[in-house]
Amino acid sequence: MAKTKMIYYFGKSKTDGAGDMKALLGGKGANLAAMTKIGLPVPPGYTITTEICVHYYKNGKKYPDGFDAELKTAVAWMEKETGKKFGDPKNPLLVSVRSGARDSMPGMMDTILNLGLNDETTEGLKKATSNGRFAWDSYRRFLQMYGDVVMGVQKRHENEHDPFEEIMDNLKKEVKAVDDTSLTEENLQELVKRYKKLIKDRTGKAFPNDPMTQLIGAVSAVFGSWMNERAILYRQKYRIPDDWGTAVNVQSMVFGNMGDDCATGVAFTRDPATGENVFYGEYLVNAQGEDVVAGVRTPLKIEEMANDKINSAAYKELVAVRKTLEKNFGDVQDFEFTIEKKKLYMLQTRNGKRTALAYVKIAHDMVKEKLMTPEHAIKSGDPEALNQLLQPIFDVSAYEKAKKDGKLMAVGLAAGPGAASGTMVFTADKAEELAAKGKKVVLARVETSPEDLRGMIASDGILTCRGGVSSHAALVARQMGKVCVAGAGDIEIDYHKKTLKCKGFTLKEGDSISINGSTGEVFSGLIDTAPSELNQVLVTKTMKAADSKVFQYYNHIMKLADKYRKLGIRTNADQPDQVVNAIAFGAEGIGLCRTEHMFFEGDRIIAVRKMILAEKEEDRKAALATLLPYQQKDFEGIFRALDGLPACIRLLDPPLHEFLPQHDNKKGQQEVAEQLGITVKDVARLVEELHEFNPMLGFRGCRLGIVRPEISEMQARAIFQAAAAVVKDGVKVKPEIMVPLVGFKKELDLQVEIIHRVAKEVMKETGKKFAYTVGTMIEVPRGALTADEIAESAEFFSFGTNDLTQTCLGMSRDDSGSFIPAYQELDILKANPFASIDTTGVGQLMKIGVDKGRSTRPDLKIGICGEHGGDPTSVVFCHQIGLNYVSCSPFRVPIARLAAAQAAILYSVD
Ligand code: ADP
Ligand code: MG
Ligand code: MG
Repeated sequence: MAKTKMIYYFGKSKTDGAGDMKALLGGKGANLAAMTKIGLPVPPGYTITTEICVHYYKNGKKYPDGFDAELKTAVAWMEKETGKKFGDPKNPLLVSVRSGARDSMPGMMDTILNLGLNDETTEGLKKATSNGRFAWDSYRRFLQMYGDVVMGVQKRHENEHDPFEEIMDNLKKEVKAVDDTSLTEENLQELVKRYKKLIKDRTGKAFPNDPMTQLIGAVSAVFGSWMNERAILYRQKYRIPDDWGTAVNVQSMVFGNMGDDCATGVAFTRDPATGENVFYGEYLVNAQGEDVVAGVRTPLKIEEMANDKINSAAYKELVAVRKTLEKNFGDVQDFEFTIEKKKLYMLQTRNGKRTALAYVKIAHDMVKEKLMTPEHAIKSGDPEALNQLLQPIFDVSAYEKAKKDGKLMAVGLAAGPGAASGTMVFTADKAEELAAKGKKVVLARVETSPEDLRGMIASDGILTCRGGVSSHAALVARQMGKVCVAGAGDIEIDYHKKTLKCKGFTLKEGDSISINGSTGEVFSGLIDTAPSELNQVLVTKTMKAADSKVFQYYNHIMKLADKYRKLGIRTNADQPDQVVNAIAFGAEGIGLCRTEHMFFEGDRIIAVRKMILAEKEEDRKAALATLLPYQQKDFEGIFRALDGLPACIRLLDPPLHEFLPQHDNKKGQQEVAEQLGITVKDVARLVEELHEFNPMLGFRGCRLGIVRPEISEMQARAIFQAAAAVVKDGVKVKPEIMVPLVGFKKELDLQVEIIHRVAKEVMKETGKKFAYTVGTMIEVPRGALTADEIAESAEFFSFGTNDLTQTCLGMSRDDSGSFIPAYQELDILKANPFASIDTTGVGQLMKIGVDKGRSTRPDLKIGICGEHGGDPTSVVFCHQIGLNYVSCSPFRVPIARLAAAQAAILYSVD
């Protein structure tokens, strides 16, 4: 440690750091160096590296050997650079001590201004500026910050006021001052006296007069703030590692509070909400530091500075700086500045945070203007945020009004972004009935199941009081791009009384309700919505691409992403309209077609139930024969929609009882009895026989097709007859038949045999030829561990990471809601493994699957079709382990496209 450089300078005489040294110097320090290098007016200073912070914490809060000496050298350097001296009453050097982590953590850590002041230097500052009030105000501010941050003089319990504020308020009352600015120099001197007494009384220690002692105290306090509660919480939320540490910047002070020819402000080089190429920001005349953000006084719009006679020259400089920053940093900058006596100083710059709309617009404009590299345009986007562009939204003023009127009832999980507002219903039937009449409905359920699917399709929004982000409701919502709030636990739904209750609200079926799936909010009453332009261009086709700027910006970034990404992007879809949407969003085929969803539509469920409940094989076959033409038609529709793109179709997967009315649904059982011409008692008995203790690990997946081969046979026939039928019309098809839940090569072999036989038969019967492949899902650990054997029979793999996560972790997805939040809080889990791949555990099984699979079949095509296929961090992982494609729900295709491009730029693999 002793040999490495501990402090980096930035100033006219030399600048050691650079913009790409954020890990070592923190974001603020690196960019202060970068701005200095390009000749922007930055007050000189130095940066103590993050390595020192890391050392400090590893060694019981001690600095490395030689640090003191290096700090002294730095102080001397700065004295030379500024021509001022630490503690010199005639011309005192004053500094700020500022935190600065690698990623900005706004407001989380502490900053100390005006360090170097004491009784003597304050008098010196007064002389130098001929402004006694300013000097003593700076001193009292310093005491306040130093007393709080370094000496720990703070309020001692919730109900206490800030002790410094309290003293100031008392003094203001005594001297009848209306606000801070009306305190006189004498008042401020008195205040300083009282602050010092407070510090002494509370800590037993005197406030240190010596600037060097002040400096060391402040540096330690900034390092200390890295581990304050706020900062730790913030890092947890944004997944910033604790061991990055913060840097400390010591910078010569400039003053925005010396009079009306001084100011301080913050600005963006473009509008961060809309992305418009306009200067955007605000400033305060005669103010210091955080006054602008703190909201004590109302700041002015930056462009008003042009008309401010005193500061209009500085404004001209700012306008030039705006250009320089974009040109040099290659992105929109969010910067802080101070004007001291008409002279502009730059204090900070960083890439500006922005909405999804601003992101696509800025990327579009700045790449065209050659200000931003295409790589940066891709890298700097938040894939997840693209959702904002796709969803209907609440009309802004109506939304604000609802909040103001106290209509917010509950907040659940934001499971399907966007806004929905309409009539609340509790059953799928009612939802369909009202939707058929042209009503907008929100389906409210305790939780949803495949039985509710038709009602969910008919609804504009879905609300559940149980279940998490990967619950059935949330999954379906994502697949269909439906607005959904899941697991709103405060809400109680009573199906019998047909009421929904929450915190004093009682809604009856038929009442109006509104949900915000981007925030999880649930409102009583209607709130107007507006469809997004992207939806209008791509989905409803009610708007031409040429008429939508938003679409053009979006499309520009998507096309760019396609140029970089190595992963293919497919979609999980089982209806032609979903396929059409997914292709509009850029999908290159189907990665998972779940055939069971097709079993619920129309009268098919009757045939499905007959097939399940039939006790004789010929009855089963007869029932399957009625299903065949339906399935065939479904596949024809899908093949036509795909028009030659590949379709990975999974054979029947869920446990059979999911298709039957359970024991608590007597009415349903009655219906089934009538439909099937058997007694209710028999239905009840058969349902009971199919009951399983752990259906997830029960009679499902390929086990169905192995015990009841006629099911696989029917499905294969439906697929191949559909293929033959569309081939006849000149449509190309690429069916990929996928056998689920395989753990043994023999399981796959038995199914492959049936599939090949049926294919041959169909080709012979129809006289049509078509190519197809047969592969398997890898979704149980044994499948991954024996992937070399399985790959001998499988032409492709697709990782079913939902089940693979359940079986690898031994954690039931649907029961995990009760402990996952606690697990995340205790840091056992970094993220919900059902939302983001557990790369160390499940990921290892995937790697083994890839390596072993390709060891016997080098050209094995491998994809992923679990929910993780649309999760940006999981997409990056899939790229890293060499998958060929990811598959996700149609509305997440753009997210996956961008994430895949980011992965390709960040991690090129050969
Ligand atoms: P944060 O990271 O919380 O934004 P900063 O380190 O940027 O904290 O400091 C907060 C504010 O203090 C700055 O925005 C700036 O207005 C003021 N400030 C910091 N250093 C100086 C300085 N050397 N001269 C004048 N003002 C400063
Ligand atoms: Mg700042
Ligand atoms: Mg599965």
